Amino acid sequence: MSENLTTKMNAEESMPVALDTFGRPLRALRVSVTDRCNLRCQYCMPEEEYVWLPRETLLSFEEISRLANVFTSLGVDKVRITGGEPLLRKNLPSLISLLRTNAKITDIAMTTNGILLTEQAQSLYDAGLHRVTVSLDTLHADRFKTLTKRDTFAQVLEGIDTVGRIGFQDFKIDTVAMRGFNDDELVDLIEFGKKVGGEVRYIEYMDVGGANDWSSDKVLSCAEILQKLSAHYGLIEPIIEDSWAPANRFRLPDGTIFGIIASTTLPFCSTCDRSRLTADGMWYLCLYAKIGMDLRKPLRDGATEEEMRALLLSTWQHRVDRGAEQRKELEPANSRGRFVEIERLRQDPHLEMHARGG
Ligand code: SAM
Ligand code: SF4
Ligand code: SF4
Repeated sequence: MSENLTTKMNAEESMPVALDTFGRPLRALRVSVTDRCNLRCQYCMPEEEYVWLPRETLLSFEEISRLANVFTSLGVDKVRITGGEPLLRKNLPSLISLLRTNAKITDIAMTTNGILLTEQAQSLYDAGLHRVTVSLDTLHADRFKTLTKRDTFAQVLEGIDTVGRIGFQDFKIDTVAMRGFNDDELVDLIEFGKKVGGEVRYIEYMDVGGANDWSSDKVLSCAEILQKLSAHYGLIEPIIEDSWAPANRFRLPDGTIFGIIASTTLPFCSTCDRSRLTADGMWYLCLYAKIGMDLRKPLRDGATEEEMRALLLSTWQHRVDRGAEQRKELEPANSRGRFVEIERLRQDPHLEMHARGG
């Protein structure tokens, strides 16, 4: 393929890389394997019941792997398994093994709430999972129960302990930082991370999907997080990285590294190389995208790999998404209202964060 404005060659691997309208490559794919979850985190699934994706529409592991092969032919080399709660999907290690047969995927990660990790972490590691991120927002059992509406804090801690001992290439702990909820735990979480061998990343609270309780005053900003941490630890050094990763990383005086994903106050859309595949095969080019592309239908209708590739390439080449920046641009006019009305969420579960994987 000749080099042009919308594809370039990845020098190391002589692989074509698809570029969107802002020149952003298609590099990272988040694959949701289920929309179901065993928690009800208030910022993600505030309701008890949802309209679930029909089971027959869920992609099989073989279908996910076929799609992954098309994505990697366009430059994807990182895959993150997510959900809903990904560990609720049966036999997940066999999906990891399938993905590992694709040599272009150099990094397979998973984001999980950790409840089922104790049972599954070793088989996931054996299957070839490189990295694990466990979401944990508090170290207080009572707060955990209030936030998640479930009493499974002990299982999460046990899961974290198991992951820390297995020796994955990378282990992170993701915490949604919320004013009035866990803003007094930032230091404790870093100390916990040190103890269990996980790098803590604070995520700014986002107003995506079903996060209908969101309000800007609940967002603990990157600046405030840094201020609180430096009041305790002293000088915090930013780490300068040539990276497309969403987190800004920092070093404490004792060398401990942590990250902040400042999606709300400092959106990083200009370097966003991620897209999302839902469990039923809808492809979204942005966390905030209201419309996605159905990849399941052409796949099940027998489209060839080359046809799927052309579809993905031309879609990515037309990508104009920069959702978090656009949400922020509404603020001066005070018009950052609810992102999606509840009625619309009920009609289209794909708009929910738990369907598109965060
Ligand atoms: N269930 C798994 C978990 O919680 O790790 C994976 C899916 S969850 C949707 C992925 C990530 O999205 C989690 O780290 C979660 O904390 C984050 N998340 C969900 N809703 C959010 C919100 N409104 N703002 C910021 N992060 C959110
Ligand atoms: Fe919480 Fe993840 Fe479940 Fe959402 S999908 S409710 S963030 S555990
Ligand atoms: Fe990427 Fe959309 Fe998130 Fe911006 S809002 S960083 S474009 S996924």
